[in-house]
Amino acid sequence: MTIYLLSTRLKFFIWISVLFLFNTLASEGQDAMQFKTVVIDAGHGGKDPGAVGKTSREKDIVLNVALKLGSYINEYLPDVKVVYTRQKDVFVPLNKRAEIANKSKADLFISIHANAISTPKIYGAETFVLGLHRTKENLEVAKMENSVIVLEEDYTTTYEGFDPNSAESYIIFELMQNIHIDQSIQMASLVQNQFKQRVGRRDRGVKQAGFLVLRKATMPSVLVELGFLTNSSEEKFIASEKGQTYMASAIFRAVRDYKEEFDAKSKMEDIARRADEKEAEEVNYRIQVASSKKKIKEGTQIYKKFDDVWEFKDGERYKYTTQCSSDYSTILKSLKEVRSRVSDAFIIAFKGDVKIGLSEARAYQKQQN
Ligand SMILES: [Zn+2]
Repeated sequence: MTIYLLSTRLKFFIWISVLFLFNTLASEGQDAMQFKTVVIDAGHGGKDPGAVGKTSREKDIVLNVALKLGSYINEYLPDVKVVYTRQKDVFVPLNKRAEIANKSKADLFISIHANAISTPKIYGAETFVLGLHRTKENLEVAKMENSVIVLEEDYTTTYEGFDPNSAESYIIFELMQNIHIDQSIQMASLVQNQFKQRVGRRDRGVKQAGFLVLRKATMPSVLVELGFLTNSSEEKFIASEKGQTYMASAIFRAVRDYKEEFDAKSKMEDIARRADEKEAEEVNYRIQVASSKKKIKEGTQIYKKFDDVWEFKDGERYKYTTQCSSDYSTILKSLKEVRSRVSDAFIIAFKGDVKIGLSEARAYQKQQN
């Protein structure tokens, strides 16, 4: 009686432990695959005003947009953590910004900027991903954004002799491997679509150039140029409260869509992984009908006797099976029929794709049920 009680309790305890472990694993798996953290990087700040327009400065505009974007994410995507590289008017070195992103293990890095160019009639929004510029124009944007490092102390050491104004320096971006390029382009496209379709901005497209601020970031990352402060009507728009709200909402919707796709993809990958794991643990019975030193050509010999022939290599030999079932009594029934054609056919067992002994397979299945 006591022994019976003990064993029942023990069974109960094991059952609870298994349940607990399973839940922990399941939730850990879920956590690991969700989009969790975004880093919002307002360009420039403090002694570095960035681009300067007639009435506004880049550092102020981009800080406003960054803070708005962060507040929308906090409000509408509460499970996403927002990390800022700056929340006020302070100077932050470029490499420090990537460092903040890396430390927070962010899933996405968004650097926000505004543009300037000598031709006032040029306007529009563009989003960059890291890479080697394809046009001189894109190189000029990178040069301008990277030139802020000269305001940093000892920048030649920090950036290993990188000269932001020399085209030759940019060769490093050609050699650089960018493993997050696809996701970065995906995010950049979402941003540009929003700017164009929802805010009606002129779409200058998704571009590539060598930005130091993105170089050391270890996650998908984009650099958004909201528009040109050197174009008076564009300056008016992005310097206005309404314009900044529109631009921040547009980037927010891009983040939301990116997160949705990210989470959906991770979920699919997780389901596939679990199915693989389950399959690897599953026992299947097959009926061996032939064994040969040489590979049997399809359409000959044993293939003529059965429609479903499955070959596997067992040591030096090729072995041929027909039928497959996880149920032993089903395979036993099939064996009768198979033996009418191959009299010495017999049952073998697999766990996943590993051949195991019949008794081991049956004991394992008993234990599972
Ligand atoms: Zn900038």
